[in-house]
Amino acid sequence: MVPKPKTKECPSCAMDIDSKAEFCPICEYHFPKTNPIYQWIAILLAILLLLLLFM
Ligand SMILES: [Zn+2]
Repeated sequence: MVPKPKTKECPSCAMDIDSKAEFCPICEYHFPKTNPIYQWIAILLAILLLLLLFM
């Protein structure tokens, strides 16, 4: 059994492409670089803001 290569769906042309690809080889859609650390910081800031609003 060969494990399936990780793919992601291109939001522009709906093709399954390499999950590590920075842009789609079919339609050249550029994927935004997502850093999980920045996502966590954004979530934490949102929670802090909510806490301040309700204090
Ligand atoms: Zn595409």
